[in-house]
Amino acid sequence: MSKNGPARQQYEHSLTDDFWRGIKRCRRASRRTLHLSDSFEVAAANSDGGAIDYDRSPSAGAFMVERRIRMAKFPHTKSFDTFDFAAQPSLNKALVLELARSEWIEQRRNVIALGPSGTGKTHAALALGLAACQKNHSVAFTTAAALVHDLMEARDERRLRSLQKHLASVKLLILDELGYVPFTAVGGELLFEVLSQRYERGSTLITSNLPFDEWTSVFGSERLTGALLDRLTHHVHILEMNGESFRLASSRKRQKAKGDYNMT
Ligand code: ADP
Ligand code: MG
Repeated sequence: MSKNGPARQQYEHSLTDDFWRGIKRCRRASRRTLHLSDSFEVAAANSDGGAIDYDRSPSAGAFMVERRIRMAKFPHTKSFDTFDFAAQPSLNKALVLELARSEWIEQRRNVIALGPSGTGKTHAALALGLAACQKNHSVAFTTAAALVHDLMEARDERRLRSLQKHLASVKLLILDELGYVPFTAVGGELLFEVLSQRYERGSTLITSNLPFDEWTSVFGSERLTGALLDRLTHHVHILEMNGESFRLASSRKRQKAKGDYNMT
């Protein structure tokens, strides 16, 4: 043993101790991070009115919700706070408020909002999407036409699989404005594939100005539309929004306020 033997051994020993202490510190920190997101999940799952209990992990909760909202790509932020239920008497308010609790997403059910233009379908879809983000669900918002365009583009660029994988993995897919633009045969089939892949795996919310019996005109094929409706409506909540256009009613009110009675 050298003259410096014991001192050196002690030095090496303390280096090893430091190393293990460092590792333990890292493990404790990562466990803390995991607990933070665990407690957020619990807080989100336990909350009952759409609001998250941020008290337990305020910054993590707010950060996750903001991230969910950013990833959802909503064109605007709308909530039920600004939705006038009295203006849309055909809409089942109790059902909408129940849906705003987002339990239907945990149950992998679908929602289809039907009604003419201007009746608040997109507003309701955005508000349900926002509520889902607040419960920490992954959401993707798109219009039916944009999605079909993206699918065709992805197919041409040989990245269809990865787009399909992403679309199959989100907890809630919102497909706005089905019915305004008819699809090509390939477009209809690609959309059908996405919706089939989500069947009983995730929730889909569709808004349409067309009643179900006219959906064939969008997909072009009766067989495909039948198979799609069969899957979509297996576990579904239908929101009927058959009232007057909110835009039209608002402009009529404005005209009346100005004393112009030309509009009927
Ligand atoms: P749709 O998608 O059925 O065509 P939108 O949701 O785009 O209709 O509604 C058109 C506009 O009217 C939007 O600015 C929306 O916020 C508003 N709007 C529609 N219905 C209501 C409502 N019941 N209460 C408040 N605003 C509404
Ligand atoms: Mg709309």
